[in-house]
Amino acid sequence: MLVRALLARQMDRETKKERKEFYFSPSQLGKCRRRLWFEAKGEKGDIQLIKEEFLEDGHEHEKITIERLKEAGIDISHCQEPVDIPLVKGINIENIPSFCSVCKRSIPKGVLHGHIDGLIGGKILFEHKAYASERFREVVNERKLPRSVYVQVALYLRGLSYKGIKKARVLVKDRNTSKYVEFLMEYDRIRDRLIVKEFIDDAGIREELGEVYRGIVKRALREASEVEEYLKRDEVPPVQGREFDTEECGRCPYRVRCFRLEREHIKEGEVLSWESGKLSKNEREILKKFLEVKIKRDRITEEYNTLRDVLLKVFSQKDIKGVEIPSLGIGVERGVIERTNKEVDYKKFAQAYPEIYKEVVKEVPSVYEYIREKKKKGLSVSLEKIQKLPVDVKKGEEKDIQQKTQQQREDRNIEEVSDGKVEQEVERIGRVKIKTRRVKR
Ligand code: SF4
Repeated sequence: MLVRALLARQMDRETKKERKEFYFSPSQLGKCRRRLWFEAKGEKGDIQLIKEEFLEDGHEHEKITIERLKEAGIDISHCQEPVDIPLVKGINIENIPSFCSVCKRSIPKGVLHGHIDGLIGGKILFEHKAYASERFREVVNERKLPRSVYVQVALYLRGLSYKGIKKARVLVKDRNTSKYVEFLMEYDRIRDRLIVKEFIDDAGIREELGEVYRGIVKRALREASEVEEYLKRDEVPPVQGREFDTEECGRCPYRVRCFRLEREHIKEGEVLSWESGKLSKNEREILKKFLEVKIKRDRITEEYNTLRDVLLKVFSQKDIKGVEIPSLGIGVERGVIERTNKEVDYKKFAQAYPEIYKEVVKEVPSVYEYIREKKKKGLSVSLEKIQKLPVDVKKGEEKDIQQKTQQQREDRNIEEVSDGKVEQEVERIGRVKIKTRRVKR
């Protein structure tokens, strides 16, 4: 009963939130453009993530942490102090509030307005984040925070730069275990770059990081301004590069709707011919490699299955259970598995107990992107044929491709996979994929 009342309250708050006008704030910027677009349109997130948001009692955690820090003798002041952040010349954002209900004052035109968590010793920005254990572990393992946190810190430091404040300490709390880790950052306003200098683990051990985020404020503001343009034109912003694979997508409350939009968009998409000259040499190289690996994988699977069947026959004829290779510590064993799976007949269950069915069966939306091989019926393509495919682009064409796709790339904020970067990109995407798989929703 109490849980339902709390959930109803949360849903009510979400509905009211939706009715409010949308404004860009420092904590919103840095998220993907499509997500900002959903937020600006007042779209509600997927239901299970509303429940997740329900748990976001970050301010309480922040208060507790600040009390603890004060008890530990740390000088924390200026908590929730307002900061006005000037926009970058040439970038215009219209959806900025003109009045702050917390400060009860007007906000000058052309500035973003926010409230900082505090200052340490009056000289270093203090930011507090409280995450659930799973997310906290990811932050610790990756030594990385979501991009929106870096943008928020850079924006606040930009706003505080007139006071000579350049550094920030971001304290991250595990909500479940009360463990803390810390990041030290520095913002260079002239070059508009944020350097994540140091990570301090839950045992207080420091580790140098030195990660640099160039043009961080400019890019985030430009994205916000682009979102406004898309809203005006009533168009959906394209997804930014391989966003779908990032952790941001894994946690995005609009994931399902975003994927559906993408599915519609893909349906109308064009299928290029290899010879069309729209793909660069590197892009062709990647596609060629993909097809090669796919054919090799299919061959290996086929070979594996044949060898397994032959071995089973041999073991059976010789009446042996298995073979060991003691020097290597490995071997193979024959066995028989018998299983009886219990399955729920959902149709019958729903008919017999409709109320219980509604209570216990929940919808878990799940979406993923794929790329699969398309082959003309009856045609077999050999590895040798694929390997012989020329990847070179005709003279002069490469330049043409670059010019044509430059605009698209800029629009999607995609970094081109250039020569020598293919391996790095494959490794990066591989890492992200592994990370994404860990994200349970
Ligand atoms: S699912 Fe990913 S690409 Fe789509 S809105 Fe969310 S963060 Fe952006």
